[in-house]
This record gives sequence, structure tokens and C-alpha cells, in this order.
Amino acid sequence: MTSPTPQTADVVVLGGGPGGYVAAIRAAQLGFSVTCVEADNTLGGTCVNVGCIPSKALLQSSEHYEWLRLHAAEHGIKVDNAAVDLATMMARKNDVVAQNTKGVEFLFRKNKITWAKGFGTLKTGNVIEVKDANGNVTAWQGKSVIIATGSVPVQLPFLPFDEKRVLSNVGALQIPEVPKHLIVVGGGVIGLELGSVWRRLGARVTVVEYAPTILPGNDDDLVKEADKILRKQGLEIHTGTKVTGADMRADGVTIHVEKDGAASSIDADYVLVSVGRKPSLSGVDAAALGLTLGQRGEIAVNDQQRTNLPGVYAIGDVTGGKLLAHKAEEEGVVAAEVIAGKPVHMHQHIMPGIVYTWPEVATVGLTEQEVKASGRAYRVGKFPFSANGRARTMGETQGFVKFVVDKDTDEILGAHMIGPNAADLLSEVVLAMEYRGSAEDIGITVHSHPTLSETVKEAALSAIGRAIHM
Ligand code: FAD
Repeated sequence: MTSPTPQTADVVVLGGGPGGYVAAIRAAQLGFSVTCVEADNTLGGTCVNVGCIPSKALLQSSEHYEWLRLHAAEHGIKVDNAAVDLATMMARKNDVVAQNTKGVEFLFRKNKITWAKGFGTLKTGNVIEVKDANGNVTAWQGKSVIIATGSVPVQLPFLPFDEKRVLSNVGALQIPEVPKHLIVVGGGVIGLELGSVWRRLGARVTVVEYAPTILPGNDDDLVKEADKILRKQGLEIHTGTKVTGADMRADGVTIHVEKDGAASSIDADYVLVSVGRKPSLSGVDAAALGLTLGQRGEIAVNDQQRTNLPGVYAIGDVTGGKLLAHKAEEEGVVAAEVIAGKPVHMHQHIMPGIVYTWPEVATVGLTEQEVKASGRAYRVGKFPFSANGRARTMGETQGFVKFVVDKDTDEILGAHMIGPNAADLLSEVVLAMEYRGSAEDIGITVHSHPTLSETVKEAALSAIGRAIHM
């Protein structure tokens, strides 16, 4: 088949997730003509369609239910017979997703970005061939191309996804009933968030994690606290446990596990496999294009998102590192601005990460263990939410804020929080770190009273030996 003559644009983006759509908007703002190729029926990628947004919608709904069941009474609010209407909860989640996908479409129209609907294949010469759902093929050639094809969930060979009983994030966001027993393989962010949703809605949830702890790689104190709180809430957590095989049944799955050499099995009606995600090179034949990949199959880029191919950039999950929507978005902005000749660079070391359990877990920068291993002299400051007035008024006193700071300059090296609204509380620390701020900078800044953010201030003061309320 002969290739169609390409239409041209200054920038052609492959993939309309948070990396791709943000890159497209920023490039359009900078005056470029932009086409974004997206195969799905909606824009927004994993994050908006089957990731961040639907999971947070269900987390919110299930949190309301849990609060009504367990905490309303202590506020003097009587609620009889609180019950879950799963169909309405799912419909609301779908509606929230639609508001967001339509929002991205609106922004495309506003910024005069062309959405080339269909599956794109990157060819040499910065050409992307696009095959739509009817099999029609068009082509776009860009002066610059930005690859933003995202990532896909990793499958276990003996537990292939069928999205009926063996679920990836896609199936776990739309189980048609509250499971009697849900096994979550993988105690990382996605497993704990979606496991929490279904536990709150009434499922027995068992988390099986191969590593010695849940949330591997995070600060030890934080992980211990999260583990303690989540177990108390009712998640059954088996760490240091390997899943070795599985048997499918019509009404569920039996998984075989091994811990310290002892084998056993667990029956469940559903299993969510959340053992990680890998870069998606769909439509990108790296070998044929001569595109350099890294050790984990991610597209190798420098800190300006340039690949080894002239005029070809890559952003977001397909470039590996932390698989986060806000990382993808910032990389999209950097790529667009580099194309416009601006001297910008990506700062990967100040990359916040959140787990939207309740309480929330929020981290940025180095863990205490990483600083210790580096040999740098450091100090730690910690403050519990139980000593914060606002947290007491809310009845949300679990958790703490922890700072790791340089011993001599008290420059903030990392912050690790678990507590109410920790996701939002982290932002001031991220900003401070962008300016290479110190614990004292946060400690001497006026924080409104009574707010949860005073916990951040007090933890910063504690790092320099000056906490007031402790
Ligand atoms: P994606 O969002 O994966 O987008 C890639 C897009 O490219 C897709 O729309 C795909 O259809 C399209 N595409 C791929 N190949 C082609 C092709 N050849 N032709 C045409 N189109 C193509 N991150 C957070 O920061 N916060 C969270 O709370 C959070 N929660 C999450 C919860 C879950 C359950 C999951 C699974 C992920 C979550 N993430 C979260 C991660 C976040 O979703 C990703 O990091 C983010 O979506 C990556 O953006 P991206 O643009 O790189 O790729």
C-alpha cells in the first residue's frame, strides 16, 4: 500500500494523555500549528479515562460511605442504614471522567489543535501515519514530533488479564458488584488505592506484595505508619510473599503463594494484578527507526526530552522514571518550550508522589535512608497530626509530617507525610524545594490557624529544634 501524502504541522504529538495533550496545548500557545494523534475515542489517556480521575472519583465516594458508617456518629450525626448504590457510584465516576475528557476536547478547540483520530505509526522523516476506525489512512509530518504513547500494565504470565476475574486497573474500576473477596497482587500505589475503594465498599481485600514492605522505595517511617493504619482499616496485607501460580474457576481465581519457603493458596472471586506498568511503544518501532531505548524498554531522553533522533522528543510514561501524570505534563511543557528554543530543563529530583488512601501519603525528595546512605550529615524533624488543633476538630489525627534536612544549612532534602489532605499539604514543600529552601524558611512563614498546614510548619521547626507545640 502506498503511503498517503502527509499533511504538515509544526508539531505532531503521538498520544493524547496528560503528556501529549499538555504538550499540544503549550506548543499551540507558543504559536505552533499542532496535530495530536490519539487512538482512543476520548482524549486524556490513562490518567483521565482509566487512571487518576476515575480512581479518585471512586476513592471519594467510598470515603464518604466509610465516614458515614464509622465516623458520623462521633460528630453527633445519626445515619441509619447507609448503603452503597454501586450503579449510581459508577455512573457518577463515568460522568466525572466525561467532564474531564470533554474539557480536554474544549481546550483543543480553543487552541486550534487538530485531533487526528486513529492509531498512529511513526515513520522515518517525522511522519506519522494515522489509521482511523474505518481503516482510512492519513499522514501527518511535523517539523517536530513528540512521542507520548504512555504505558500499559504488566501482566503475570499465569494470570493474563481478562478484565472479568483477572483485572488490570481498567477492570478494577468497573467491577459490576462488590467482590466478596478481592486479591490485590502488588502493594504499590494503584493496588492500595483500588484495594481501599473495594474494602470500604464491603469487600474482603487481601494484598500480596513480593517486597518486604508495601510501598517499596518510600521512607521507612512512612511505610511503617501506612502499613499499620491500612491493616487497622481492614486490608489484609501479606508482604515478602511471592505469587507462584493461579487456577481459574468460573466464579473466581485461586492464587498460589509462597512465603519463607512455605506454600499456600488463596481463593477469591476477583484478583487485581497491579505489579507495575511498562512503556508502551505501540506505533513506534524503535529498532526500525533507530530510536535508542533504555534498559527497561523506555525511550531514552535527555533533560530536554530530546531522543537520539533529530526533531523527535518523548515525554511521559513512555520515557520511564516515575509514572505520574504531573511528570508527563511537565515533560510536555518542557518539550514544547525546547522546540520553541527556550532554555528549559526537567527537574526530576523534585517530583512529588501521592497515594490517595485515607489518610493520604505524600512524598517528595530523598528518603531518610537515601540521605543516610549518601553519607551526608542530616537532621530529621517530625510532627504528628494528633498535636494539630485543626486535625483534632476534624477527628483526623492519624499520621505525621517528616522532614529530612541538611545538618548544616537545613536545606530541605525530602519530606514525607501521612495524614489528612497530605496530598495538598505537600505543595508548599515542593515549592520551597524548587527554590532550594530550608526548614527555617517554612518554619518562620506565617501559616493560618487553625489549619492542617501548621503541622508542616511545626515539622519544619522541629527539624531545627524549635517546634512550639511539642
Ligand atoms: P497515557 O496517559 O498512557 O496516554 C497515552 C495515550 O497515547 C493514550 O491515550 C493512548 O491511547 C495513546 N496512544 C498510545 N499509542 C498510540 C498510537 N500508536 N496511536 C494513537 N494513540 C496512541 N498519576 C498521577 O500523577 N496521579 C494519580 O493519582 C494517578 N493515579 C493513577 C491511577 C491508576 C489506576 C493508574 C493506572 C495510573 C495512575 N496514574 C496517576 C499514572 C498516570 O495515569 C500516568 O502517569 C499518566 O497517564 C501518563 O501520561 P502519558 O501521557 O505519558 O500516557
